[in-house]
Amino acid sequence: YSPLTEVDREVSRAVKQELERQRNTLELIASENIVSRAVMEAQGSVLTNKYAEGLPGRRYYGGCGFVDVVEKLAIERAKKIFGAEHVNVQPHSGSQANTAVYFALLQPGDTILGMNLAHGGHLTHGSPLNISGRYFNVVSYGVESDTGWINYEKVLETAARCKPKMIVAGASAYPREIDFARMKEIADTVGAYLMVDMAHIAGLVASGLHNSPVPHADAVTTTTHKTLRGPRGGMILCKEKHGPAVDKAVFPGIQGGPLMHVIAAKAVAFGEALQPEFRAYQQQIVNNARALAGALVERGFNLISGGTDNHMMLVDLRNKNVTGREAEHVLDEVGVTVNKNAIPYDPQPPLVTSGIRVGTPAVTTRGLKEAEMIEVAEIMHLALSFGDDPKRRKQAGEMAADLCRRFPIYQEGGVYAAD
Ligand code: PLP
Repeated sequence: YSPLTEVDREVSRAVKQELERQRNTLELIASENIVSRAVMEAQGSVLTNKYAEGLPGRRYYGGCGFVDVVEKLAIERAKKIFGAEHVNVQPHSGSQANTAVYFALLQPGDTILGMNLAHGGHLTHGSPLNISGRYFNVVSYGVESDTGWINYEKVLETAARCKPKMIVAGASAYPREIDFARMKEIADTVGAYLMVDMAHIAGLVASGLHNSPVPHADAVTTTTHKTLRGPRGGMILCKEKHGPAVDKAVFPGIQGGPLMHVIAAKAVAFGEALQPEFRAYQQQIVNNARALAGALVERGFNLISGGTDNHMMLVDLRNKNVTGREAEHVLDEVGVTVNKNAIPYDPQPPLVTSGIRVGTPAVTTRGLKEAEMIEVAEIMHLALSFGDDPKRRKQAGEMAADLCRRFPIYQEGGVYAAD
């Protein structure tokens, strides 16, 4: 019996179609993942009914006893995972988490030094289209044109010149490990705060597979839905001394009532992240990314920076005579989902691009391992390296469908998939 089907056929139909789409396509979008049924159950729970402005034990509403239990669990588990002094689990999203930190530590007009959006940074790190770019004076650093790597000497030079109040480290499309200790040194040299947005790599950090920003940064922000494999949402980890300012910036600064059902799902996901299997999962994400990168290079694909240290890679498609937009479309047709992505110094406009971003978190949740990464690379090769050869594209589609059948998700009784 499905109340949703009974009450609203149109929405129900779209939800079922989306489930089938997720089952039948290989998800290579680096920022996406596949949550457990437990996370979904918490998120779809009666906690959605509850107003709980304030913090556990200090609410502006009655009846908050049980949601307090949930929020405290989320906070304590996050502290344990990341070794953080202070945690706020209320940001509705990664963007809200970033905005709250700016609101807590900066004044409008202050200078932020963040990573260039066109080189892999995020909109919220100072794009003129985002509130960060509208309210603050933004200076950017990027990656080297010949290597695709961040040059920390240049970051220091730029920081010394522009004297930012805050340096923002972290990225949406940077395939290499970021040296957070080095970023902290630079911030200290110029007397700036350091904020690290670890949204993409939070799961790797949780498992010790990427150096942690938590000991170095004044504040660390993250989404909870990428490698961390929780519900769609945000979180802030910060030094104790910034705790009161950060909490006030989230509420009443930029948000009203927290989404208690999402916070419950965050608590469940953090509980999962504390299990030993989670580290094995993160290790497999990284192993898969390396295997996929290697197999793509063998098939003549150029990767920005030459490879990957983390869960994702940026493919420069110029030698394949296909744009990012075309590649996204063709791969969609054969059952593989990626996003077009600007490469550093991209000659193409942002809606066309010369590249795609490819990540392994979701397919790793499905159970794919190194051997299957070679199949995935072959699918991409068949779809993208031979013009619009229909026979090869058909073969690519069959291979993708076969992988989806062998590694199912959301089957009866399964937590995710193949188990
Ligand atoms: N920070 C980084 C580095 C991201 O990649 C993203 C999203 O892709 C965000 C923040 C924003 O998260 P949200 O979409 O939850 O606002």
